[in-house]
Amino acid sequence: RDPILQSVLAILNSDGEEARIVGGTVRNALLGSPVSDIDIATTCRPEETIRRVEAAGFKAVPTGFEHGTITVVAEGEVFEVTTLRRDIATDGRHATVSFGRDWQADAARRDFTINALYAGPDGRVFDPVGGLDDISTRTLRFIGDAATRIEEDYLRILRFFRFFAWYGTGRPDAEGIRASAKLKAGLVNLSGERVWSELKKLLGAADPSRALLWMRQAGVLTTVLPEGERWGIDNLHPLIEAEAAFGWTPDPMLRLLSILPPDAERLNGIAKRLKLSNEERDRLLAYAHAEAPMPDEGDGAFRARLYFGDRTAIVDRLKLALALARQKEDLNRTAALRNQLAIAEAFAPPPFPVTGRDLIEKGYEPGPELGRAIERLKRAWAEGGFVASREKLLERAERLATEGAAPT
Ligand code: ATP
Ligand code: MG
Repeated sequence: RDPILQSVLAILNSDGEEARIVGGTVRNALLGSPVSDIDIATTCRPEETIRRVEAAGFKAVPTGFEHGTITVVAEGEVFEVTTLRRDIATDGRHATVSFGRDWQADAARRDFTINALYAGPDGRVFDPVGGLDDISTRTLRFIGDAATRIEEDYLRILRFFRFFAWYGTGRPDAEGIRASAKLKAGLVNLSGERVWSELKKLLGAADPSRALLWMRQAGVLTTVLPEGERWGIDNLHPLIEAEAAFGWTPDPMLRLLSILPPDAERLNGIAKRLKLSNEERDRLLAYAHAEAPMPDEGDGAFRARLYFGDRTAIVDRLKLALALARQKEDLNRTAALRNQLAIAEAFAPPPFPVTGRDLIEKGYEPGPELGRAIERLKRAWAEGGFVASREKLLERAERLATEGAAPT
């Protein structure tokens, strides 16, 4: 229905060549789920795709030329166009492919039946491996023998649980579970990035707890996230319920934190092993270093803690504590934590109104004592609710200077 997609398909669907939409795009359209990226499969060789796309005035970027993938940018829309392939060799991590013109062979190298559906420009669906039946029953099934397909690429174990979390229902396919359990050791040789990318997508499903329980059952969780298994994925479910109850946006990182121990060393180990981004690693570590929530402290003290601490980490801690308090129906604790969360989310203190130069004018010597005086003043200002005026603060500084007050 998208006219730009239609024109890209038309360019590739002429003069003896064919092109069809494929993979997650077709799957999600059939399931009524939102479609994020559009993948197109074509008989055109990569250089022919480039030629046709450029002749039509669109942009062609050879993002994965050896694998046959050209990224097409047309009127600001992005399409991944890949030449039909078959796998000629794999080592459990990478595949060597050859290009071809055979739709059946292209389908056979994909992972799951529901990921191997094609749609032509007229919307007609091609179903070489029986994906439509599995779409209608929301069954996630490997194409061919599950164990053989896993041995070609062990990441498919995680993809099995990821797609089950998103689109599956009931019990996962028994053969898929058996093969995953048997071959899980192959996961340890995968790159951390690939594992994390799948785990993060799994954690973004509406409710990943079911899939994680099956992963634990199959011994897959111990292999990729032993820290999570020991700590307890049982803490995830209360978070999912709290998200719904309080309208929180689902956040894969917070969901990950919910199943991990707040231990800096172990979190750092996970960040390294799974090659998390610096930002993601910092969030895990800040969480580990943040104090546990203190629902009984006064609002002033809490605001001061927000001011001097890491707000994201404090909010992460609050949300997880709140999810558990809510689950235990601890009404007092729930109310107190909700109050703190509201404060934290609205928190925007004014800039501190006093500078070092001001204090030097009041008789302070430059140096460490000046730094400590500013910290003391700032703390008093924060604990007093960030309302003391510049004049009040300078008066106080002057008083402390003349009294020669020792640091408190
Ligand atoms: P989404 O983009 O929503 O995560 P998707 O199905 O598009 O889902 P991608 O990882 O983008 O998933 O892969 C696109 C398609 O390529 C898949 O639908 C599948 O047909 C094929 N594919 C991707 N990775 C593999 C793999 N490891 N083994 C076999 N086929 C794969
Ligand atoms: Mg995709």
